[in-house]
Amino acid sequence: MKSEAIVELGKPLQTIETETPEPKGNEVLLKITHSGVCHSDVHIHDGYFDLGGGNKLPVGAMLNLPHTMGHEIEGEVVSIGPEVTEVEIGSHVVAYPWIGCGECATCKAGDEHYCNAPRQLGIQLPGGFADYCIVPDSKYVLDYEGIRPGLAATYMCSGLTAFGALKKFVNISDDDHILIMGLGGVGMMGLQFARALFNCKILAADIDPNKLQAAKGAGADEVYDTSDELSIKKLLEDTGGGVKATADFVGAEKTVQYSLDSTKKGGQVVVVGLFGGAFQMPIPMFPLSAKSIGGSFVGNLEETKEMLELVKQGKVDPIPVSKRDIKEATQTLDDLRDGSITGRVVLQP
Ligand SMILES: [Zn+2]
Ligand SMILES: [Zn+2]
Repeated sequence: MKSEAIVELGKPLQTIETETPEPKGNEVLLKITHSGVCHSDVHIHDGYFDLGGGNKLPVGAMLNLPHTMGHEIEGEVVSIGPEVTEVEIGSHVVAYPWIGCGECATCKAGDEHYCNAPRQLGIQLPGGFADYCIVPDSKYVLDYEGIRPGLAATYMCSGLTAFGALKKFVNISDDDHILIMGLGGVGMMGLQFARALFNCKILAADIDPNKLQAAKGAGADEVYDTSDELSIKKLLEDTGGGVKATADFVGAEKTVQYSLDSTKKGGQVVVVGLFGGAFQMPIPMFPLSAKSIGGSFVGNLEETKEMLELVKQGKVDPIPVSKRDIKEATQTLDDLRDGSITGRVVLQP
């Protein structure tokens, strides 16, 4: 099999040839049809996440070079291990990539994506920038019938990131307001999942008037231009003191501050975006405002199944997906780094 692999961090990917693996036990071998390229692949390729202020979070130590990235994997089951019973050869599936050790308390509680000994496809394990990929257990293989090929792959990271963040919201009543901060691809999916999950008023905020217009078209009840300093005052008036919960899909200093200021006492801010930076808050404001600030990282396997059901029911409009030959993997990473890609690129071996 051939893979487009990181041989040296930050350098162009190289085509490497290895023996196509034989699935053992509960493993499933996929012949890859599409593999999404995510912004976090850029960071993995660089070897670090930028934490702002000149600080870096290195990722190189967890990679086994040469490493095959790609965690939005779609493919056809071509071979199964002897213990696999529920997956049929020939079926077209996506692979849940956020796999844990399976043994620790976190994994046993179903939150494998938070495991401290992860075996994530495309990160610790070889991923989708290849002809074939081994999935460690058939339970991570999910059918995507009813979802367009190529698009289905993208739900395993960008879709799940949006959905998982909204699933963190607690006690949202129909009289509440919630806010979607940041209307890029993931934020727009968040807006649509919010409409599918909640009956409350859904607000959206961004600095780009075109994106605000798009959010209105996608069903936002009201939109706010965060570059307008008076917009927060209007939001607080419109909501009678703030929203119950905000999902910040940007994760920058200014958006987190805006999100906090928009959220009412006892409310919740869930930070999803990885833009970077740092922010300060006086400690007494935690008890005095009773607001909580938390983070969200993708979602667990059960949430993934729930999300796919909503997508199959047509509750979420497809994001723009463009297909490229896998040979263009390095170019795609460069384009993502430059910000010149709208929607998602999926690679085809
Ligand atoms: Zn990703
Ligand atoms: Zn674990």
